[in-house]
Amino acid sequence: MDYSNCSRAQLLERIDELEMLNKELLTQKEQEVRLDFAWSGNLGHWYLNLKTGKIVFNPLKVTALGYRSDELPEQISYSFFTDKLHPNDYAVVMAAMRQNMEGKADVYECEYRIQARDGSWKWFYDRGKVTQRDAAGKAEFAAGIVFDITEKKERALQLEHENKLLEAENVTDALTRIKNRRAVLAQLESWIHEVRHNSQPISIAMFDIDRFKTVNDSKGHVFGDQVLQVTANIIAGNIRVQDVVGRYGGEEFLVVFPNTDQASAGLVCERIRARIEAYPFAEGLKITISGGIAEYRGEAVTAFIDRADQKLYQAKESGRNRIAM
Ligand code: GH3
Ligand code: MG
Ligand code: MG
Repeated sequence: MDYSNCSRAQLLERIDELEMLNKELLTQKEQEVRLDFAWSGNLGHWYLNLKTGKIVFNPLKVTALGYRSDELPEQISYSFFTDKLHPNDYAVVMAAMRQNMEGKADVYECEYRIQARDGSWKWFYDRGKVTQRDAAGKAEFAAGIVFDITEKKERALQLEHENKLLEAENVTDALTRIKNRRAVLAQLESWIHEVRHNSQPISIAMFDIDRFKTVNDSKGHVFGDQVLQVTANIIAGNIRVQDVVGRYGGEEFLVVFPNTDQASAGLVCERIRARIEAYPFAEGLKITISGGIAEYRGEAVTAFIDRADQKLYQAKESGRNRIAM
């Protein structure tokens, strides 16, 4: 620009203008160096010199970890953070970083926990990439952003935990804590679907407590509930790990025996019947159960259960406290 024809007043005005602009630019530059913007919020920036291992970052990451930025040395190395990484996250972070450094991934991106000064774990989302390489392609400089996602992550983990509890509650009978009707039926259906292909035997047993109405009538429902809990425990404790039991109805229990023929299921059921008969219920009460067993013959699930039910009916008719097949 040619200032030769400007008056003194015009020149002074121009200098003033340039000084203001210069000041503004300097402030911005300084902010950039400190990486400390008003809008940063829970966002941090980092620059990593891979040759020296030195890191430059805005205060977020250290303040989130409980350190004041003014109490840290001016130069912090990479290990300040990696030393504090959660042991379960260490390998994941290193692998993500290596992938990017070796050029196998465009960016480095991961979530990890870092231990704060007070011992608690903070979650970070970190995303960056190698920005400079030497002539041979070796990574020299990397830059990225990092978010403190602790709150979000903790909410998500809490939700996940609550969902798991709900799911478990959904398939569990509230009184006896064994599977509910829906869950045991779902298991039976899935196994039947399998045996249609592999032709393994599958057997079921339907148990029903004998004269349970009189237990309720004479001892009350609370006592009746306890009998149901004990009976469920005895059944669950006397089947094999691969078998499942569910509460099918009020005082009826359905057991499914995969890869088991009727005769083998009968042995297990007879043992259960005997254990319940021998159990010392409160007030000297004797409780017995009857059971009906059926082995799968390729029919619909309802028809299969119906056959076990008919056997149960026979067991009741022929005197109770017995297993029919
Ligand atoms: P049977 O030997 O023929 O099976 O006789 P029963 O008395 O056991 O048969 P019934 O079907 O007449 O009676 C079943 C009883 O189970 C009636 C009902 O009040 C009771 N019952 C069902 N669910 C519960 C429960 O959750 N708690 C309690 N305490 N009783 C229940
Ligand atoms: Mg019944
Ligand atoms: Mg009954």
